Amino acid sequence: MSTSPANPLNLLGMPRKRLAEQFEQWGERGFRATQLIKWIHQRGVTDFTAMTDLSKALRERLGQVAEIDLPEIALERSSDDGTVKWVLRLADGNAIETVFIPEDDRGTLCISSQVGCALDCTFCSTAQQGFNRNLTAHEIIGQIWLANSRLPVPEGRSRAVTNVVFMGMGEPLANFDAVVDAIDLMLDDNAYGLSKRRVTLSTSGLVPALDRLGEVTDVALAVSLHAPNDALRDRLVPINRKYPIRELLEACRRYTRDGARHHRVTFEYVLLAGINDQPEHARELIDLLRDVPCKINLIPFNPFPGSPFVRPSMNAVHAFERLLGDAGFVTIIRRTRGDDIDAACGQLVGQVADRSGRGARMIRLHAALPQRVGATA
Ligand code: SAH
Repeated sequence: MSTSPANPLNLLGMPRKRLAEQFEQWGERGFRATQLIKWIHQRGVTDFTAMTDLSKALRERLGQVAEIDLPEIALERSSDDGTVKWVLRLADGNAIETVFIPEDDRGTLCISSQVGCALDCTFCSTAQQGFNRNLTAHEIIGQIWLANSRLPVPEGRSRAVTNVVFMGMGEPLANFDAVVDAIDLMLDDNAYGLSKRRVTLSTSGLVPALDRLGEVTDVALAVSLHAPNDALRDRLVPINRKYPIRELLEACRRYTRDGARHHRVTFEYVLLAGINDQPEHARELIDLLRDVPCKINLIPFNPFPGSPFVRPSMNAVHAFERLLGDAGFVTIIRRTRGDDIDAACGQLVGQVADRSGRGARMIRLHAALPQRVGATA
């Protein structure tokens, strides 16, 4: 932390290239940026004075003009199933949530990209809260930094977090620049060194931004489809009126077209009783996705107060899954984890600061937890 008085530059979310340019501006050699990034993201050190391979003069200078500032942990809760949820307080008083989901062979962190969301999907609790602001790159990467600093490292791994999914609060493609900077650090071998298949961006389908994303990175892609036709998707995911299914699927094809991008798109499909969970919907979905290399992730709806939807029975969920499976689709029913600590999809709670500054109101958020097996509890 810096003790400097005036507007220190927060270096936590700066990708290596940008940091190198900054160092050059300060008259330092660019490779110092690599050293600094290793200290911050690999060793978890935020105190410049402890960075012993940097010259004393540079350390002093950094202490005067820069800082490595993290969100504050307002709450940490662990579930019986190992899921951990944090409420993080941001400098402006807003709060976001981050959830860690351990599995045998991986540790997945579900992160937020915005405070609230502007997209108004009718089944999503975040939409009810409206939109407050984008997170900065340091607020996004800070979620990984904090999780790694709090979690025990399993044997045979260098860190607890092995996978990251942008499935917390917010629409990541609506916060493009900060999300891309954070992804840069996630993939950087000098920082988190995650492979691009271990970072998944989930989007409701902002087509132009998805094309832009394909120009700068090729992390794994999840798309919140939720309906097999435009009439229904227009109602559930209103951004569909702007970017209808056909355009969205074409953008998905463009994103995965390149031979290097052999991963498939994952389509997320929240199952809402009587709305999109009938056999005819499954059949329509099969026709729609026939030629798209993909996986389908079924998410039984998690109700929240005031929501007009109902979760289907597990029989209906399994019947839907069977139809897709029989048609040859790799289909997964996402299991609910961490519901005893309110960390499951639709259960996250954060706080959006009252802009008048007169206090904070509680808001409900969702986080979709990536699970590969099993049934919803
Ligand atoms: N805005 C992005 C990422 C966050 S949402 C997106 O739309 O993809 C992560 C997933 O959780 C999305 O597929 C979202 O549609 C789903 N989801 C939202 N509310 C839910 C709820 N109440 N129950 C189950 N899944 C929900």
